[in-house]
Amino acid sequence: MAWQEELEEMLEVQIKARGVRNPLVLKALSRIPRHEFVPQGCRKQAYRDRPLPIGEGQTISQPFIVALMTAKLRLCGGESVLEIGTGLGYQAAVLSQIASLVYTVERLPSLADRARENFARLGLSNIFLKKGDGTLGWPEKAPFEGIMVTATGPLVPGPLKEQLAVGGRLVMPVGSTRQTQRLIRLTKGQGGHFQQEDLLPVLFVPLRGKHGWQAGF
Ligand code: SAH
Repeated sequence: MAWQEELEEMLEVQIKARGVRNPLVLKALSRIPRHEFVPQGCRKQAYRDRPLPIGEGQTISQPFIVALMTAKLRLCGGESVLEIGTGLGYQAAVLSQIASLVYTVERLPSLADRARENFARLGLSNIFLKKGDGTLGWPEKAPFEGIMVTATGPLVPGPLKEQLAVGGRLVMPVGSTRQTQRLIRLTKGQGGHFQQEDLLPVLFVPLRGKHGWQAGF
């Protein structure tokens, strides 16, 4: 099957049928060739209903989770957003089709370099990548209308809460063990008050760094 057909089938069966119908999200997914964001050896599996290894013990998320997390950011188009945990860049690429500016931070240099190559090859010029500890956010570029963390931490890092715009949304898996992670959404209200929603159980790789897991997990 040609990749366009695989992509369309992925959208129908894995995304729309499971309830993600936001037109901006569907359009963004339809524009990004997911096989460009997986290692050569597993390109054939790029559109399957599962996460895939991307090297260094990390993974590219399952397509449905990327779609759902994108939808939960409730973007209208034109925003400035921050992603923590670039991996090879698939989620950032999807976000770049909705937001005006996408800032993304990856702590593993080898993955960051490959993500940067992917963005350049596909001409995704509104994505800005930084290597380093994403639990500190990217203060020089704040505030962000949306923040997405694609690795699981013990709690939402304080700097990310600070860097969220008033009215902005933050989506992140949080949990105290690998088996008990929940995807949550924080919405920042006036006066820095946060509303928290519990979305669903998920399974992500650990968030490291100052406000993440130090070791183990
Ligand atoms: N968003 C990616 C999924 C990446 S998996 C995609 O679309 O495919 C999670 C990534 O988070 C890994 O690459 C891991 O190295 C990274 N990560 C973990 N802790 C981090 C931290 N403190 N700062 C930045 N990146 C981190």
